[in-house]
Amino acid sequence: MPDFVTRFAPSPTGRLHLGHAASAFHVWQAAERAGGTVLLRIEDIDQTRCKPEFTKAILEDLAWLGFSWDGPVRIQSEHFADYEAVTHDLARRGLAYRCFLTRREIGELQAKRGLPPSAPYTGAPLPAEEEARRLEQGEPFAWRLSLEAARADLGERYDQLAFDLTTPDGHHEIIKADPASHGDIVLSRKDTPTAYHVACTHDDALQGITHVIRGRDLEDAAHIHVLLQALMGWPQPIYTHHDLVLGPDGKRLAKRFQSKSLASLRADGLTPQDVRRLAGV
Ligand code: GLU
Repeated sequence: MPDFVTRFAPSPTGRLHLGHAASAFHVWQAAERAGGTVLLRIEDIDQTRCKPEFTKAILEDLAWLGFSWDGPVRIQSEHFADYEAVTHDLARRGLAYRCFLTRREIGELQAKRGLPPSAPYTGAPLPAEEEARRLEQGEPFAWRLSLEAARADLGERYDQLAFDLTTPDGHHEIIKADPASHGDIVLSRKDTPTAYHVACTHDDALQGITHVIRGRDLEDAAHIHVLLQALMGWPQPIYTHHDLVLGPDGKRLAKRFQSKSLASLRADGLTPQDVRRLAGV
C-alpha cells in the first residue's frame, strides 16, 4: 500500500473561495512533502445544492492554482448505489434502524429527556408491527446508525476507538474517539440517498486514503468516521485538521467573503501566489 495518499474533496455548492484554496494548499503541500499522491473527489451528494457547473468551475480553479491530481475524478453522485449498500449492510447486521420521527418530534422527545433539541439523539427501532404499518402507509423514514448496537457489536473495541491526529507541522497525537457525541447519526433519508459520513468513509476506504487533511470545521467528523471504519472493517487514515482562514475580526472567512470567489480574485488581477499568501498557507 502506498505510504501517502490524500484527497481534496470539495462540495460543488458554489464557486471555490479562499477557504477552499487554503484547504487545497494544505493538501497538496502535505502530499508534496511526503512524496505522496492527491486524488480529487467531488462530494456532490446533496443534489439540491450541488450543480455540475460548479464542478466544472472547481476543476478550472484548481488548474489555475497549479494543482493536478492522480487518476480520474471521483464524482460521488455517480455512486449512490454503493453508499446505499453500506447502509443496507449495517441494517442487515442490526446496526441501523428506521427512524420515522420528524425533526419536531425529536425535539419534543429530547425535551422530555431534559435535553436541547440539538443534543445528540439516540433512539431504537420501532416494534416490528408498528414499523410494518408505517411502511405500508408510505411514511418517510431515515436510516440511523444505532450507537447501542454498534457498542454491542464491537465490544471492548468500542471503548478503545481512537485516531491518529497529526498537526500540519507533523506533531502526532492519539485522540480517544467519542462517537456518542454524534448520537445515532442519519445514514440516509428518503430525499438524501446517503449522508456525508457514509459516502466520505466509504470513499476514503475505496480510494486507499492514508491521510485525511481538512479544515477544523470538520474535526468532529473523525469521531464518527472511526466508528464507521471499525464497523465496516475499513482501514483508518491519519487525520489532520488545518486552521480555517480567518478575517481580521476572527470570523470564518468563508462566510465573510462569500462573494469573493477565486474567480473574482483572479478577475481582480490576483495571482495564485497572492491567493496562497491571503490563505495564510
Ligand atoms: N466535502 C467537504 C467540504 O467541502 C469536505 C469533506 C472532507 O474533506 O472530508 O467541506
